[in-house]
Amino acid sequence: MISVEEALARILAMVSRLDAETVTLRQAANRVLAADAVARLNQPPFAASAMDGYAIHNDDHHPGRKLRVIGEAGAGHAFSGRIGTGEAARIFTGAPIPEGANRVVLQEDVNRDADCIILGQRLEKSDHIRPLGQDFKLGDRLRAPQRLRPADLSLLASMNLPEVEVACRPQVAILSTGDELVMPGEAPRADQIIASNAFALAAMAEEAGAEVRLLPLARDNEDSLRFAFSLAAGADVIVTSGGASVGDHDLVGKVARDLGLEQNFWKVAMRPGKPLMAGRLGSSVMLGLPGNPVSAIVCGHLFMLPLLAHLQGLQGRHAPRKARLAAAVEGNGPRTHYMRAELAEGEYGPIITPMGRQDSALLSILTKANALLIRPISDGPRAAGEMAEYLPI
Ligand code: AMP
Ligand code: MG
Repeated sequence: MISVEEALARILAMVSRLDAETVTLRQAANRVLAADAVARLNQPPFAASAMDGYAIHNDDHHPGRKLRVIGEAGAGHAFSGRIGTGEAARIFTGAPIPEGANRVVLQEDVNRDADCIILGQRLEKSDHIRPLGQDFKLGDRLRAPQRLRPADLSLLASMNLPEVEVACRPQVAILSTGDELVMPGEAPRADQIIASNAFALAAMAEEAGAEVRLLPLARDNEDSLRFAFSLAAGADVIVTSGGASVGDHDLVGKVARDLGLEQNFWKVAMRPGKPLMAGRLGSSVMLGLPGNPVSAIVCGHLFMLPLLAHLQGLQGRHAPRKARLAAAVEGNGPRTHYMRAELAEGEYGPIITPMGRQDSALLSILTKANALLIRPISDGPRAAGEMAEYLPI
């Protein structure tokens, strides 16, 4: 059995980043920038007033000075004249500073008298000018790769970039298998349960930028699985859940191998989720997840999400974080244990409390967890107050 780190390394080594495509800014939210975006102008493109007031020459910046107002500059309405000493222009926020002026006095710091202003007794130090290029300069870059957040889109827009190059969205096909499964809303027979795994996996994949195809439920027979795999053709990633252990009805591996799966590994030294399988199937990477809902979702966090990040050119591995144990934990056995846990902010930093029940069939417990406490292989017992590693979920 290989370790989780080795399994992840092997999964990431199976793929290279996807191609890039050009999309409009309105399509770019949450996409991963694939090439540096380069500003096409300075922002602001001209020295601009930061306040409503009067543009004047520094030499006139003295209490009581009387200046003649010779024009007006508004946002989008530059004043084309020149301000000499003894002169001022009415100016509004965002307007270009007129030639000759190098300071704005606030409107509340002057008295207006017909076409003149008289500067008040208390004047401010600040010139209230936003210098040309103070936000960014022509040629400045937003670096790739990074996931575009809302503010990034405004930055790209103000760089005068209507389109950006982003990584193509990974195409993910999700295949659930089991004779006992029916879809939510159906009336299960007494020996059936509701298929739930695909809903979490699909939501996780979409949040990570993927386009998801939810395939119809496959049954535990070769024909049904073969048909389901045929519907997954062309996907970058095929995620299966169920049918991957060693039971008589666990046919996912067999059918996938018959279809040409180059199996890379099967079984990882972890809990929950030992019967994890991965390999290449045609142009796809296949991740065969266990059917237990918690195992499937934990494996989704540990392997599917890094794979999707990697496909989009992002760093796949997430370094564990550290928190203080709220309670003692027992020594761990030969598999890394990802304990469902609650992370909270304590007086001296984050505190982590493993849930009382760790059965991998308990979705109701998983939904209360916000972290996976990592118990390394053969780690001894740990006392409350010791530091431990975790992954946020
Ligand atoms: P398997 O990996 O097929 O042996 O399934 C392990 C356990 O997970 C069994 O109790 C299955 O009934 C359950 N299971 C399998 N697939 C799903 C699914 N899609 N949703 C909910 N439970 C599942
Ligand atoms: Mg099964």
